[in-house]
Amino acid sequence: MKSLRTKAQGWVYFLYDHYFQEDANNDLTDFIQYFKIEGFANEPEVYIKTTNEGLEFGYIATRWDGYMVLLPPGQYKKHLLPWSSIKLMNKENQQERILELLMKTINTRKRQYRKCQFCGEKLATEHRIDDNICHSCASKYLGVVF
Ligand SMILES: [Zn+2]
Repeated sequence: MKSLRTKAQGWVYFLYDHYFQEDANNDLTDFIQYFKIEGFANEPEVYIKTTNEGLEFGYIATRWDGYMVLLPPGQYKKHLLPWSSIKLMNKENQQERILELLMKTINTRKRQYRKCQFCGEKLATEHRIDDNICHSCASKYLGVVF
């Protein structure tokens, strides 16, 4: 089985060949691509997108409003690689740096997951009431009303 890092690296190369080559002539104004953390919990997604400042790295997570109503998933920014520093690097260094920030983002997201003590499910922060109890089990076993 391919390691997560190998998969992430393959994805960075893919993005590079398809979008980031100087001669690719792509309009990167609204560029956003998602990478699924395969084989981990509910396979959450991280993203890379372009902004005016540079390449932004982040993850996608469920959002709730104050009354626990589900909102469309949100983007949570973790890192930025400024255009000014991208320009100073050669292709290999750029790919290396992009992979490094992508892995950091993936690991940040993974660290937000904990096993629920009741159902044993591995869930992200936004689906738990605390470190050890998920929302559904909090309703079911603790009578918490959302
Ligand atoms: Zn649970």
